[in-house]
Amino acid sequence: KLYNMVQDLKGNIRVYCRVRPIFNSEMKGVIDYIGKDGSLFVVDPSKPQKDARKTFQFNQVFGPTTTQDDVFRETQPLIRSVMDGYNVCIFAYGQTGSGKTYTMTYSNLLYFPMQSGPPGRSANEMGINYLALRDLFLICDKRRDMMTYEIYVQMVEIYNEQVRDLLAANSSCTKLEIRTCSEDDGLSLPDATMHSVNSTMDVIQLMEAGEVNRAVSSTSLNNRSSRSHSILLVHVRGKDTSGGTLRSCLHLVDLAGSERVDKSEVTGDRLKEAQYINKSLSCLGDVIFALAQKNSHIPYRNSKLTLLLQDSLGGQAKTLMFAHLSPEEDSFGETISTLKFAQRVS
Ligand code: ADP
Ligand code: MG
Repeated sequence: KLYNMVQDLKGNIRVYCRVRPIFNSEMKGVIDYIGKDGSLFVVDPSKPQKDARKTFQFNQVFGPTTTQDDVFRETQPLIRSVMDGYNVCIFAYGQTGSGKTYTMTYSNLLYFPMQSGPPGRSANEMGINYLALRDLFLICDKRRDMMTYEIYVQMVEIYNEQVRDLLAANSSCTKLEIRTCSEDDGLSLPDATMHSVNSTMDVIQLMEAGEVNRAVSSTSLNNRSSRSHSILLVHVRGKDTSGGTLRSCLHLVDLAGSERVDKSEVTGDRLKEAQYINKSLSCLGDVIFALAQKNSHIPYRNSKLTLLLQDSLGGQAKTLMFAHLSPEEDSFGETISTLKFAQRVS
């Protein structure tokens, strides 16, 4: 109870930690204990037993056996609040390979051609983006007698501090401006294409198109999807029977990999990428930290990412961060750095 109160005082910022399974059975893990109360113990593989344990505390910790449905269940109330007019931001943080995309945008449907009717199609294989939209459509339907909702999505990526529309017909040449003083329409990206969606299938098709656009422009060697932030902006407009209106947004963010690169090993474009990522992730950390501290100045302007998310961070908005961990021994350094990032804002 007290803990919840403290959370409320901290302005609606929650942190969930998710640990993915170890896929290679030869590998040793560093996760020692996961508590139902959100505690997490990790062991430093390089230290003698008694100094090795470090403990962390979050709102929730999901272990390797947690299903997509389990995770969604703990996220659903937040997502539903969008339909009551709250702005919500959910983002996935962690090193490349730790499970960010799995949590946010994974869908088993994407791996099968739509026409052939995928075998073993099961909803619980879908990430939060799909389950969230499906849930919003469900609420639209349930409240049909009292409210009429319209749902629109935009999908963009931020790469090297440039915002690109992933759903535009010609997405490679558009560099979008972010509008900060929301005007009547409340849009931070007025020039990104808006797509009305009415079903989960609409969303799947759009996201598929967005992923294709993303891949097309990726440079040959490095995997661009881990070097850019991908953001699904969901806009909700509601009208009740007495003419009252409601407008809110849900921002779903799959962040670029948080791993630090060794400056002595990378040069040129790769170094530039890494510096942009470091900068925007640390800006995000600073913004959330400032919000948690209730500072009067929130440094949104220091990165495109925070500028774009401004409406869904702070104020009445609700924020949820997933800190993703790769549990293997050789990721210990990145694990600690992710945990520290997450601890700072929780
Ligand atoms: P990231 O987006 O952080 O780089 P991914 O989401 O691509 O990482 O995850 C890396 C791999 O691990 C993928 O093959 C993904 O399907 C798998 N994976 C991640 N998290 C889980 C999980 N909780 N359960 C099962 N498989 C997972
Ligand atoms: Mg990914």
